[in-house]
Amino acid sequence: MIDLGKYIKKLEESIASSDNILLVCHVNPDGDAIGSMLALYQFLSSRGKSVEMLSPNYLQDFLLWMQDADRINVFLRNRKKARRIIEAANLIIFLDFNQKSRMGEAERFLMMSGAFKILIDHHVDPQDFADMVISEPALCSTAELIHRLVISMNGASFSSPAYDEAVYVGIITDTGNFEHGTYTGDTMRIIAGLIDAGVDKGKVFDNVYNNFTVNRMRLQGLALYSRLTIIEGYPVAYIWLTKKDLELFGYSKGDTEGFVNMPLSVRGISVSALFVEKDGFIKVSLRSKGSFSVNDFAVKYFNGGGHVNAAGGEFYEPLDKTCIYFEKSIREVIPSNDESNIS
Ligand code: 5GP
Ligand code: MN
Repeated sequence: MIDLGKYIKKLEESIASSDNILLVCHVNPDGDAIGSMLALYQFLSSRGKSVEMLSPNYLQDFLLWMQDADRINVFLRNRKKARRIIEAANLIIFLDFNQKSRMGEAERFLMMSGAFKILIDHHVDPQDFADMVISEPALCSTAELIHRLVISMNGASFSSPAYDEAVYVGIITDTGNFEHGTYTGDTMRIIAGLIDAGVDKGKVFDNVYNNFTVNRMRLQGLALYSRLTIIEGYPVAYIWLTKKDLELFGYSKGDTEGFVNMPLSVRGISVSALFVEKDGFIKVSLRSKGSFSVNDFAVKYFNGGGHVNAAGGEFYEPLDKTCIYFEKSIREVIPSNDESNIS
């Protein structure tokens, strides 16, 4: 049973004593980063607080429909304004990340601020960069954590159409619409409450998941048809995509989202990776089923981190060398199918 009571007094005091609150999510924000930020924004605004939101970089198209998403300041879009907002804040709340480098270019300005800093997150082993840390890795999403904190602070359930939708989006995106992640019966009871309160789950699903371009669909075709590679004799598969591939299919941000999960639906595959060539580095995404920790693997081999079953990182070698390095690393830490009983 997760007890959030220990955080509430200090959290409430910090909020009560701050008149300029700044919420900050991680770079390349996903549905949980934006969902938890918008949910907290709705709750604090309803209490009459002055709240600003900041994302280090641009939002993906599938999140732009959310109410008040257009109020999120994007550091890369307007650095001057973002710096003014950071300077004005006397409370900064970081959402959905555990390493300060996940703030991108905004990191140094945020870290320079004298504001009281609170981290609210569900990734394992948070770095020490906030004055107060609310870290609950057992929860499936930061949105669920925010929802539980809001209920405690409010002394009763809290609901508004925009708030409910934001919590709902955070939970469904971090669980792949309940396909993976550490969601529980309690998560489902929260979801039930949100649906009872009026969340239109069909509309949300369409906005989040049925919102692809034809180009993205064709890029997925390429990825699965000719780039999916099984490491012979191991329960491991990976997909690689070059910059040229992305250009050929008119890549836009978020187009490769979800690709890394697909190999896990192949019988016998329990670890999956996606390597995407970016400018000067390879973006690495990792997923697993069961006990193999891709977080530990990402920390050890790919300058990254995340969760037990979903992690990511970056690698600074060409794509072909990255794939060879990955295969070698896997052989170091995972027994071959012959050596293990795991199928
Ligand atoms: P994704 O593969 O969807 O980009 O990320 C999966 C998980 O790994 C997310 O929870 C994200 O926070 C984490 N993650 C992704 N990339 C990085 C990274 O470069 N560094 C760290 N520390 N975590 C990452
Ligand atoms: Mn999350």
